[in-house]
Amino acid sequence: MGSLPADVAATLRALLRGGDPVSVALRAQLPHAWVAGRCGCGCATVDLEVDRQAVPAAPAHDSPAVEAGYTSPADAADGGPVCPGVLVLTDDGYLSRLEIYSVGDEPVTAWPDPLLLDL
Ligand SMILES: [Zn+2]
Repeated sequence: MGSLPADVAATLRALLRGGDPVSVALRAQLPHAWVAGRCGCGCATVDLEVDRQAVPAAPAHDSPAVEAGYTSPADAADGGPVCPGVLVLTDDGYLSRLEIYSVGDEPVTAWPDPLLLDL
C-alpha cells in the first residue's frame, strides 16, 4: 500500500470503504500517498500528501470527507483516551490529513484497531 504505515493505511481503507464516488476516488489515492508530517501534540494524527500526477482528485465533497467514532476504545478502562473520533480531511480533492481526536486530556498516540470503527 504505497509508503503509508500499515496502521494508517488500514484505518483509511476502513473509513473509505464506501462505493460512492468520493470514497472510491480517495481510496484510489492510497497507493500514491505518503505521510508528510505529524501532529506536534504527540497524537497519531498524520498529514498526508498524494502524488497528484498519478491519480485524479475526488469529486467535490464536504469537509471533513469522512468522520467516524470508535465503538469501544480499548484504553478507556485503563483511564486512557475516551471515545476517540477520526476525521479524513482533503485539500482540492486529495487526501491531506488523517486526524484522531479524543475528549480526554491525553492524546491518542496509536491508531486503534480499524475493526473498532463505528461505521
Ligand atoms: Zn495531535
